[in-house]
Amino acid sequence: MRFTALVAICAIAGSAAAQQAATTPVEVGPPPNWDVLLRPRTHSATPTTAAITAADLATRLYIFADDSMQGRLLATPGNVKGVDYIASEVKRMGLIPMGDDGSYFQTVNLVDRTFDDSTRLSAGSTSFTPWTDYILRVQGTGPQSLDGARVIYGGTWGDSASLIDAAAAAGKLVVLNATPRGTTQGIRVSAVIRRFPQAAGIAAAAMELIPPQMQQALRRPSQSLKQDEAAAALPTFLYVTKRTASALLGAPIDSAKPGALGVTISSTPRFKERPVEYPARNVVAMIPGSDPKLRNEFVAIGAHNDHIGFNHEPVDHDSLRAFNAVVRPGGEDDAPRPATADEMLRVRAILDSLRRLHAPRRDSIYNGADDDGSGTVAVLEIAEALASAPVKPKRSILFIWHAGEEEGLWGSEYFTDHPTVPRDSIVTELNIDMIGRGRADDVKGGGPGYVQLIGSRRLSTELGDLVESVAKTEPMPFKFDYQYDANGHPQQYYCRSDHYEYARYGIPIVFFSTGGHRDYHQVTDEPQYIDYDQLARVSSLVRDVAIRAANIDHRLVVDKHKPDPHGQCVQ
Ligand SMILES: [Zn+2]
Repeated sequence: MRFTALVAICAIAGSAAAQQAATTPVEVGPPPNWDVLLRPRTHSATPTTAAITAADLATRLYIFADDSMQGRLLATPGNVKGVDYIASEVKRMGLIPMGDDGSYFQTVNLVDRTFDDSTRLSAGSTSFTPWTDYILRVQGTGPQSLDGARVIYGGTWGDSASLIDAAAAAGKLVVLNATPRGTTQGIRVSAVIRRFPQAAGIAAAAMELIPPQMQQALRRPSQSLKQDEAAAALPTFLYVTKRTASALLGAPIDSAKPGALGVTISSTPRFKERPVEYPARNVVAMIPGSDPKLRNEFVAIGAHNDHIGFNHEPVDHDSLRAFNAVVRPGGEDDAPRPATADEMLRVRAILDSLRRLHAPRRDSIYNGADDDGSGTVAVLEIAEALASAPVKPKRSILFIWHAGEEEGLWGSEYFTDHPTVPRDSIVTELNIDMIGRGRADDVKGGGPGYVQLIGSRRLSTELGDLVESVAKTEPMPFKFDYQYDANGHPQQYYCRSDHYEYARYGIPIVFFSTGGHRDYHQVTDEPQYIDYDQLARVSSLVRDVAIRAANIDHRLVVDKHKPDPHGQCVQ
């Protein structure tokens, strides 16, 4: 599951809070029953069978979430290794390759972006210094040139009455004033661009409001999808200091009148791009349908093959886990903070019981056993089960292990923009992200059969009903939790995993998850904390939903409003 970027910077500071626990001496306290949650740290692999079983899932996950995969960060050797494992498995199962050029891989067009130091923002003889006077923001698609653009004062962001017309901004560099209220860690770039889509550029005088850590993060080289040549160029977006803003306007910004004109820009700051060193790849494979007509339609089943890499500062594994159990039960989704004195006693009690079970261990690898090792191995098990079944479903089943979900749903964005089967032949997409947890100690209301269903009726009521009806035929009951699917839910799960990239094109989706937990986006998300029985049950459910959707005599009816494929996701 993708983390929402806004608080990402806080998370860096948060590790200090965890360090507090890692260095605090242990005191004796009442031992909670932590030993029942632990499986061995290692697992001897046994050959997998056709059936979806807890043992097969454990064999796969202990391989896929092993330390040797280095956290599977996009475009790194660890991710390449993980993706190769998936492809070697689907090859062994005899699935049909559906990637580029008859391979199992669809390479996502990803580039490394760094500031091009040979470029500058300047106006006549005045040249501004990057990172001191302004910050150039990376855009999803390439920026407009500012050369020859006149500066215009656009008003104060957050005070809509003060803003100039979008038409007056056309072709100009719009300087905006910012109030702390109008900025949540800086102005929302996408919102400003939507307000002034015809501008050559936007210069938001908000640089002083951006914390130094975030300024550093914006300065680092970054990766992004290469701009589609056909896509319209977006305004160049800059954060500038108040001083720079005033220089651009030729007058102090705080007394400027909206619509007042400033200097003319003579050169544009730019990023330079080069292809990534290690490829970002979706794995795409298929089992053809058995019905000569319906086999041209596809039921897609997906998970994501990447996670978030490793740390350069190891922490004490059990201390972090004990700390998060008390202070951050949602893992990275809970804002970091120091523990209270009372909480620290509980942290110490848990840590003490863990210390009695095993020796301390330093840890730096985000194994992503649940996120999304669980989904990845579930899709492999479903593929193996269907590949071995004597009778195949009528429609074809398409399996996709997406790249770069954690970085911004890139693999699924790329696949749905450049599908290797006709886009409108995909009748549904079943997305699996984090289905290995959901115990009562992980999530409120959790327990055997607990599943969060998201988006299942957002495009097709029939699909949502189908999932419910299939669940009733399963050997053990399911407990579906729909609360995270509510409109405006603060967790925004509907917008945070790969299914949304399908939904934006009107493809009905179901997102299956057992929800967040203390190990979410932590180095403690490891295979020994996974509930393999639960993982097997949810995997079987998804397989059975896929079979039902593939066999019905008509195409799933889309009876709800389709979103704008290029608009912002709204839950
Ligand atoms: Zn994630």
